[in-house]
Amino acid sequence: MVFYGLRKFARELGLEVQSGVVCGIYERYAVSMWEGNGYKTFSISAKFEEELCNKMEIELMDLEGNYRRVVYIRFIEGVLEARFLDNPGTMKQFRNCFFDVLSVLDGYEIPDADICPKCGLPMYGQGVWSLFKIYGRKSCLYTHEHCAAAMEREVNRQIEWDRQHPMSKEEFIEAMMEIHGDESLEEIEKLYEEIEEPDTEQRRMQRRLPGWVGALCGSVLGAFILAVAHGFLGLAAIYFSWLCGELVGAGYKWTKDVRGKKGSIIIIVMTIFSVFLAAGFRVMEMQKRDYLVYIVGGSLISLIGVADVIIGLFMAKRDDKGMQRKRLQKRK
Ligand SMILES: [Zn+2]
Repeated sequence: MVFYGLRKFARELGLEVQSGVVCGIYERYAVSMWEGNGYKTFSISAKFEEELCNKMEIELMDLEGNYRRVVYIRFIEGVLEARFLDNPGTMKQFRNCFFDVLSVLDGYEIPDADICPKCGLPMYGQGVWSLFKIYGRKSCLYTHEHCAAAMEREVNRQIEWDRQHPMSKEEFIEAMMEIHGDESLEEIEKLYEEIEEPDTEQRRMQRRLPGWVGALCGSVLGAFILAVAHGFLGLAAIYFSWLCGELVGAGYKWTKDVRGKKGSIIIIVMTIFSVFLAAGFRVMEMQKRDYLVYIVGGSLISLIGVADVIIGLFMAKRDDKGMQRKRLQKRK
C-alpha cells in the first residue's frame, strides 16, 4: 500500500505508483519507495561498485545521525536502501533525507539509471521494474528483463540447494564458532538441535505408526469426550472442542511420523471430523438448529487446538516459494 503522504511525494517527483510500490526514474536515478507495517522505505538501484559503496557508506552513516526516525541507510545486496520508522512527521524527514542522499550520490560518479545494475550494459530505455519478495522482505530493481529473470532463478536455485544440503552438525558448529567465538559448545549444540530438523528418512524409520492412524485415534477419543460432555453441559460442550484439536495433534505426534504439509492437513481434517463425529453421537437428541450451531461453532473452536499447525502451514507455504518476482508494468 502507498498512502497519501508517500503518494503525494511520488507525484511531485514524477514517479508512478503500482502494485503497492512507487517506482520510476528521478533525475538520473532509479528510485523506488514503499511502506508497510510501521515503516517507510526508499531505495535507489544502480550499478554501484563495491569500492564506491564502502566510501559512500561512511557519508551515509553520518546522515543517519541527522534523522531521528531513520532505522538505517545501507547498501543491501547492491541496492541503496533507507528505512524509516513510520510515525506522524516521518514524511518530512523522509523527504529531506531523500534529497540529502541524492546529493551524496551526486558527489560520486555513479552510472545513470539506464545502466543495468546486474550486467552493467546499457538498457536503451528498455529496462523493467521488478518487485522482489523474499522471506517477507521487499526490494525493487530496475534492470534488463532477462537480468531480473536470471537473478530470480539464481536465488531460487541457491535456496533449493541449501534446502537439499542441510549443514551437518560439525559444519554448523564450526560456522557458529567463527561468528560467536565466545559462546560455549554446549549452547551451540543446543541451538543446532532447535534449528535443524532431523533427517526425513531417519524419522520415517523411527515412526511407530502412520501419522493418520494416530490422528484418527485422537479424533475418535476427542469425539467421545465431547459427546459425554454434551450429556452434562448440552450445547455449551462445544467450548471444549479445542480439546479435539489437542488430542488429534498429540495422536499424530505420538506416531513420530514426519509431519510436513500433508500431515498438517490430516491433523486439521481429523480435528473437524472429530466434531462431526461427536455431533453424530448426539444427533438424535438435538434440534436441527442446535445441530448446526454445534457443527459450525464446534469446528471453529476445535481449530484453536491446532492453531500452531495452521500457522505452520502458512509459514511453510511462504518459505516454499523462495524468491518471487513481480514485473511492474509501465503505464501506457
Ligand atoms: Zn542487464
